[in-house]
Amino acid sequence: MKITEIETIPLRLPFAQPFKISQGARDTLETLIVRVHTDEGLVGIGETQAWRRQGSAEVLWSLVRTIKDHFEPLIAGRSPFDIGGILTTLNEALYNTLYAQAAVADALYDIAGKAVGLPVHKLFAGECRDRVRIGGLLAMKPTVGELIESAQGFYERGFRHFGLKIGIDPKQDLANVVALRGRFGDGVVLRVDANGALAYDAALALLKKLEPYDIDVAEQPIPIWDLEGLAALCRATSIPIMADESVSTDHSLLEVIRRRAATVVQTKIAKNGGMYRVWRLWTLASAAGMRIYPGNHPSTSVATAAVAQLCAAWPGPLMEGVFAVGVSGALGADIVTEPIVPVNGEIRVPSGPGLGVDLDPKAIERYRIDR
Ligand SMILES: [Mg+2]
Repeated sequence: MKITEIETIPLRLPFAQPFKISQGARDTLETLIVRVHTDEGLVGIGETQAWRRQGSAEVLWSLVRTIKDHFEPLIAGRSPFDIGGILTTLNEALYNTLYAQAAVADALYDIAGKAVGLPVHKLFAGECRDRVRIGGLLAMKPTVGELIESAQGFYERGFRHFGLKIGIDPKQDLANVVALRGRFGDGVVLRVDANGALAYDAALALLKKLEPYDIDVAEQPIPIWDLEGLAALCRATSIPIMADESVSTDHSLLEVIRRRAATVVQTKIAKNGGMYRVWRLWTLASAAGMRIYPGNHPSTSVATAAVAQLCAAWPGPLMEGVFAVGVSGALGADIVTEPIVPVNGEIRVPSGPGLGVDLDPKAIERYRIDR
């Protein structure tokens, strides 16, 4: 079997409510679906997002051009099963284009799974779990009351793990945490995420104030480049520190490990270049004794399925990550025939061949922005 073409489908999807974090608010998500075609008629799909933050400067159209102009000629004619070699080729051609490589890489796994009639997790390490517990992402709200209302909504749907966005107003951050503990007591796990927005001193001051509230982990309190600062925070606060933006490749994770700059790592399909590379990061992280937090930028069911497949195959412990934010209510639309929907705070791992999700042509027509 040989690859013949990579079709790109740029989409703009609505958020259900404005999605606000320390780095700004968004009303829409720009996401890119690729369909990798083969000469035997099998087609694989993959997803990446044009998030334009967290170490990515790629916009939707640059992702399209990277894939069509640079990747397609390099992989046309190759076997879709040669995933590791193809990714090496792509990375040598355009170094660190992880967001673009992610969609192509995952589409190759989708093809491989479809070719043998098995879900992708069977190609990684086989089935270790068929359901994955996930966390609810609490985006910033104008008032504490509205924040509690959104947390209550998650709670009633079976979620017991919250990722609270912080990093603009420390007074409001503290008030939100106090209110969440007041409402749910110790019946929920609280995690906070500043998306790299705080200066070291501000981060330390805020985390010290949050210490009495049993915060499970503080995610990327300070900027992407400040590994010294992350390491110092690890020593200065009792709240464990998670690296997200600071980890792109296995090299950057290794640097976090060497400096003991975090004890938890978050991965994302787009940020880290697809399932193959995320799996390598999990292997490194677990060997270093780190906890693993499976994440994603807000995404459709396609990138959600990719992480679910990895979780299914992973034999070690996993945290209740935020890899399903898009399908848990953040996005107002999906583009597959049977969207992944959390039930009782869990995602059921798709069991069909490949990623286990199929594009819905009507939804694609409605949201694509290249026609
Ligand atoms: Mg994050």
